[in-house]
Amino acid sequence: MIKQIAHIGIAVKDLSASIDLFQKLLDSTVGHQEEVVSQKVRTAMIAAGLTTIELLEAMSPDSPVAKFLDKRGEGIHHIALEVDDIGAELTRLRSMGFVIIDEIPRMGADRCRVAFLHPKSTNGVLIELLEKVVDAEEEQ
Ligand code: ZN
Repeated sequence: MIKQIAHIGIAVKDLSASIDLFQKLLDSTVGHQEEVVSQKVRTAMIAAGLTTIELLEAMSPDSPVAKFLDKRGEGIHHIALEVDDIGAELTRLRSMGFVIIDEIPRMGADRCRVAFLHPKSTNGVLIELLEKVVDAEEEQ
């Protein structure tokens, strides 16, 4: 089941400048910040009412975000949908013909399990499925 839009990811060239900008825009303060080494991105979450903006800055030229910026410039990079069971959602979407990038979910920012769908099967929009890891699992 899809629960909500967890966040909207925006690719930026300069994370600290963009944090300033979005704090002003959203009248909000930056929350969780993290380096996701596996994806070579720095991320910063800024609350925006019921959802969140995730700013993404490349950590190296071969980062997927660097490639996105080269091709398309700054802007909306992906939409993250929170699901209650990422494995079940991947099975459902695969059976309907969606192209899955991450056949096996991996750890994303802020201790979530994530998997991406290829934009060629979703009208050009990169979709991130995200399942929050429950506290009991985190503490083990
Ligand atoms: Zn995201």
